[in-house]
Amino acid sequence: MLSTRTTTPNRPTATMPRLYLSPPHMGPDERALLLDAFDSNWIAPLGPHVDAFEAELAAVVSGDEAVPHVGAPAIVSGADHEPHGDAERRTAHATPHVAALSSGTAALHLALRLLGVSPGDRVWVSSFTFAASANAVTYLGATPVLVDSEPRTWNIDPDLVAEELPRAAQRGELPKALIAVDLYGQCADYARLQAACAPYEVPIIEDAAEALGARYHGAPAGSFGALSAFSFNGNKIITTSGGGALCGSSQELILRARALASQAREPFPHYEHREVGYNYRLSNLLAAVGRGQLRQLSSRVAARRAHFERYVTELGELPGLSWMPEPEGYFSTRWLTCLLLEPSAARATPEALRLALEAEDIEARPLWKPMHLQPAFQGCQALGGAVSERLFATGLCLPSGSAMTSVEQDRVIDVLRRHLA
Ligand SMILES: *Cc1c(COP(=O)(O)O)cnc(C)c1O
Repeated sequence: MLSTRTTTPNRPTATMPRLYLSPPHMGPDERALLLDAFDSNWIAPLGPHVDAFEAELAAVVSGDEAVPHVGAPAIVSGADHEPHGDAERRTAHATPHVAALSSGTAALHLALRLLGVSPGDRVWVSSFTFAASANAVTYLGATPVLVDSEPRTWNIDPDLVAEELPRAAQRGELPKALIAVDLYGQCADYARLQAACAPYEVPIIEDAAEALGARYHGAPAGSFGALSAFSFNGNKIITTSGGGALCGSSQELILRARALASQAREPFPHYEHREVGYNYRLSNLLAAVGRGQLRQLSSRVAARRAHFERYVTELGELPGLSWMPEPEGYFSTRWLTCLLLEPSAARATPEALRLALEAEDIEARPLWKPMHLQPAFQGCQALGGAVSERLFATGLCLPSGSAMTSVEQDRVIDVLRRHLA
């Protein structure tokens, strides 16, 4: 035989294009809107598409734009930790205010600044996250305190927060804010977090960078906390190549965010600045792309959820294999399909599996390495850590892009079967 390459349908050949974890998924609307922006000559970090994108995103976060419920029911009566109606949202079904920004990280930075975080302050942050959540804290000279996850949602553990806040209060070390992250497209448990934080008046910032389109007891991701941040980076569920948004119910705060994001220019004919600002606004060209993407949000969420369901259906029974849970009352976007391999039972380690996928030109990645294990945050206080450490040690993210075909997904499933069965 001249070639060792197999050609059976289930055996991918080396000539197949690389399968990425979460590539952009563009359509004709995005192209048309981008050309419209281009032809209008609004080539600037302001313009009609920025204004429209902000209004359309606000409608999504208010819940007006219904995202279909394919999974868990919206409100589950008798659920373990049922929120008290919409009380934990900012305001029931109020349309929030939105500032379109150059990145999700910029949104987090502005959120912290608007809440008055300053040098020497502490900000509690989920340790199990992408570095941007904790990085933003350091931009203001504040110190992140890295809080472990709960196994139920993989997000910041509300019981741990409830247990540690009184101790922090006794030491005079209450945080100025708490950043909860909605990881892999699933909301944190805001009812329990709110209950823990409210007595100490610690404001919550929702890092919803990975969760646009998700719901928690019927309310959209981005509608929790004092302020919330979205990202439209190239790998997110919808993208503007790079971009972000800050969202909140306070018009005053969002107006200030827009001003700070435009170098804090005062309304004078000359350039007058009373405070130090940033260059954080979103380009009109990119906002046009974002508007096209937003129109497809519910179909993108449905596609990612369908990929997840198919992985589970095809692979669910393999020894030692389990999946990221979605508790009752939660509606995850399944931004990335995440699996866990129980070391005592699984036939392969996550790293062996990643390398096997890589050999077939399929991108897979470990789960986020917790911030308390990162050299950059070495000296930062950590509250717990065992849950996120275990997730990092035993997990893997699989290709989950909304444009992935079933033939492409077969390539992944085939490798997993060969190594885990
Ligand atoms: C992507 C991401 C960010 C940062 O967003 P950028 O737009 O890339 O700056 C923040 N937090 C989380 C959890 C993210 O996944």
